[in-house]
Amino acid sequence: TNTILLKSRPEGKPTVSNFEFVKDNSELEINDGEILLETAYVSVDPYLRGRMSDAKSYIPPFELNKPVQSGVVAKVTASKNDNFKNGDYVSGMLAWKTHQVSNGEGLLKVDGSQAPLSTYLGVLGMTGLTAYLGLNQIGKPVAGETIVVSGAAGAVGSVVGQIAKIIGLNVIGIAGTDEKIKMLKTKFGFDAGINYNTSKDIKADIAKAAPNGVDIYFDNVGGPISDAVLFNINRLARIIICGAISVYNSTETPMSVSVQPFLVKNSALMQGFIVSNYAEKFPEAIQQLSAWLSEGKLTYTETIVEGFENIPNAFIDLFEGKNKGKMIVKI
Ligand code: NDP
Repeated sequence: TNTILLKSRPEGKPTVSNFEFVKDNSELEINDGEILLETAYVSVDPYLRGRMSDAKSYIPPFELNKPVQSGVVAKVTASKNDNFKNGDYVSGMLAWKTHQVSNGEGLLKVDGSQAPLSTYLGVLGMTGLTAYLGLNQIGKPVAGETIVVSGAAGAVGSVVGQIAKIIGLNVIGIAGTDEKIKMLKTKFGFDAGINYNTSKDIKADIAKAAPNGVDIYFDNVGGPISDAVLFNINRLARIIICGAISVYNSTETPMSVSVQPFLVKNSALMQGFIVSNYAEKFPEAIQQLSAWLSEGKLTYTETIVEGFENIPNAFIDLFEGKNKGKMIVKI
């Protein structure tokens, strides 16, 4: 069994030296009620950065010298639990280990014949749910409105934009490369895209792409990109604060323009979103996402990195924008 431990808490951008690889050659045994799992796919996600710090948050921090955990799809290779049989695949929050024992609690059976196994970590997993529920529960989108999505070419953003198109919105995406902007328009049907790395004036570019103003802002990145969007919001705009990757590695308290005047002037709503708060809506969301996928109304992109040893690098690469769509490690 290979395991990845959190060796030290990152200061600023994480590095591979924050992680430690350990190898254990002993055979894993299972007791009654337990299953043996072989990891197939590991999800790496920006929010894990928060758990690597010891600051108080909505989930407890990872402990030092203990395995890192994230969304994993694994194969059941032995079972003494009636709910699982040899050969089943499951998804759930599991350790960064090649093999592990579980009592099955919190694990969901997934079916590779219904959809590729990796999608249960992306479009049919946590990031798809985040896109669907964040947009619908807080954004309350209405056909004809204009939405701006930041982090648009990533796992959450690419799904948000497509759902907004299905509902009939004018969709503008912000992302970091021309290649990603092209993908937003050709693969995901966005109406316009802005490359924040080459734009000379993001605020003006948004105004140009949204001549009627911005009704919904789905924010994945925070910082100056989000400030530029807020200058363009309409009356009764809804702003979904889903993430703030541009400041996750900040070592100082990030300073931003004062957003209050924009919110007051426009009677706008800004609300933080945490997907786990909406667990009772997961079944309906998954059903809708699966239906759209099979009808061909929704598509997805994954960046698949191969090899257990590359998990830390794949995680770090999220902060460099190396992924298109969902970043996943195949073991
Ligand atoms: P992504 O697939 O979007 O990957 C991260 C992307 O962020 C990169 O590809 C990169 O794209 C962009 N990025 C990296 N650094 C910066 C920066 N400094 N400024 C602007 N963009 C940057 O990740 P996810 O879709 O998994 O997550 C997106 C956001 O949603 C994250 O903030 C995450 O924490 C949040 N999230 C929140 C959840 C919740 O329940 N609240 C659940 C899931 C995710 P580019 O090339 O465009 O820069």
